Amino acid sequence: MVEHEVGRDSQNSHFDIIIVGGGIAGSSLAIVLARNGLAIGVLERDPQPVDRVRGEFMAPWGVIELKKLGLLDLLTGAGGVFSRRNVPYDENMPGEQALANALTFCNLIPEVEGALCMGHPAMCRVLAAEAERLGVTFVRDIEDVEVKAGARPAVAFSHDGIRSEWQTRLVVGADGRNSVVRRQLAMNVLADPPHNLLGGMLVDGVPEWPQEMQVIGTEGRIHFLVFPQGDDRVRLYLCYDFADKALYSGANRKSNLIGAFARLRCLPQASMIAASRAIGPFNSFSNEDRWVEDPTATGVVLIGDAAGHNDPITGQGLSIALRDVRLVSEIIVAGGYDRLSFRPYVAERLERMRRLRITARLSAKLRAEFGEEARKRRAIVLRRIFVDRMPAPSAATLIGPDRVPSVNFEQATIDALLAP
Ligand SMILES: Cc1cc2nc3c(=O)[nH]c(=O)nc-3n(C[C@H](O)[C@H](O)[C@H](O)COP(=O)(O)OP(=O)(O)OC[C@H]3O[C@@H](n4cnc5c(N)ncnc54)[C@H](O)[C@@H]3O)c2cc1C
Repeated sequence: MVEHEVGRDSQNSHFDIIIVGGGIAGSSLAIVLARNGLAIGVLERDPQPVDRVRGEFMAPWGVIELKKLGLLDLLTGAGGVFSRRNVPYDENMPGEQALANALTFCNLIPEVEGALCMGHPAMCRVLAAEAERLGVTFVRDIEDVEVKAGARPAVAFSHDGIRSEWQTRLVVGADGRNSVVRRQLAMNVLADPPHNLLGGMLVDGVPEWPQEMQVIGTEGRIHFLVFPQGDDRVRLYLCYDFADKALYSGANRKSNLIGAFARLRCLPQASMIAASRAIGPFNSFSNEDRWVEDPTATGVVLIGDAAGHNDPITGQGLSIALRDVRLVSEIIVAGGYDRLSFRPYVAERLERMRRLRITARLSAKLRAEFGEEARKRRAIVLRRIFVDRMPAPSAATLIGPDRVPSVNFEQATIDALLAP
């Protein structure tokens, strides 16, 4: 271990690892490495975690990663709730029909109670506080990060009007989907064409919502998702066509979003949401996958969204970030700081993201295309997956892409599912 020479006030500190970005990925990694006795510095742009509309549903395979990292109790102790079943309310399966087809998560993966649902800023706050408790130097409200890759990596930044430069053995870029670290290292980003828009908003005033239940379905021109958030709160997500953008932007966008849920005929709880109140922003994003074939450089490795993100339609980003944290922390703790040591992580991530990309493309086609033809196709294909048990990639979003046979991701499999 390299000695941590001086603390956060220093302009020239030396850390074993410097992490740029103190979100889910960065703070989790800081905790795990600090527990292993390493001196960690985290540089975070925001003065405090804010709701930018990010992931608040963690798939069961992500919960397994949390458990392996020793972080699950921290989040459940701070208000995380388990969603234990998914009810597929849909225009093809309204009301009681959907209840009969509910998917219970603990039957899928006995090791976990379900999917973990928790506010994103709250998760970040809890993880950052734990990192600091363990001695991590966590500096918020920083600007103008400049990463120097190479045999002697360093990060320069401004804080309170003072320019500093920290030295390290390794820089970890965990600064999210618009990563500055990635851009500065000129890493090539590959992308799918955008398919639709996806937005989300936190609401409260829904005390009757069954907090162990989540809902995913499509009706009319929206693909809708509802995730419990504890107490009387739920997170609403909505996928919609680019053609409908005007409806969900502008001054009335929050009431239009609640109105879209309130009008759902297939959802018995629609009137509960009609009475809800927005308690956060409503932001939308185009939903394409973006990935980097090699998220490493000499002295630098990227994790989480910085290394490339999956289409949020299937809610995989938190689980992906935690798997990254586990793999990268295992390599570092074993003494691997050079680029070569990260080869197994790079290879695993590339295949993991490829599988999740195929899964998300299918989901977007089935759930976020609208009209009569799309409705009929969704009914046929979901019957093939859930009743006829034809091979499909879909389970990857719950049990993890590595637990699904590779044949399920082949083009021939997708073609068979989508055959007219
Ligand atoms: C609309 C939407 C819905 C989603 N829903 C889900 C879901 O239900 N389930 C799920 O698993 N995933 C979901 N995701 C994805 C998930 O939110 C992300 O994959 C996850 O937050 C990635 O974590 P991260 O720590 O890598 O990045 P982020 O959460 O983006 O954190 C990056 C951190 O770096 C900081 N930062 C950024 N730039 C700099 C800089 N220049 N210098 C210093 N710090 C910087 C940021 O302030 C932030 O704290 C969703 C994403 C979107 C857009």
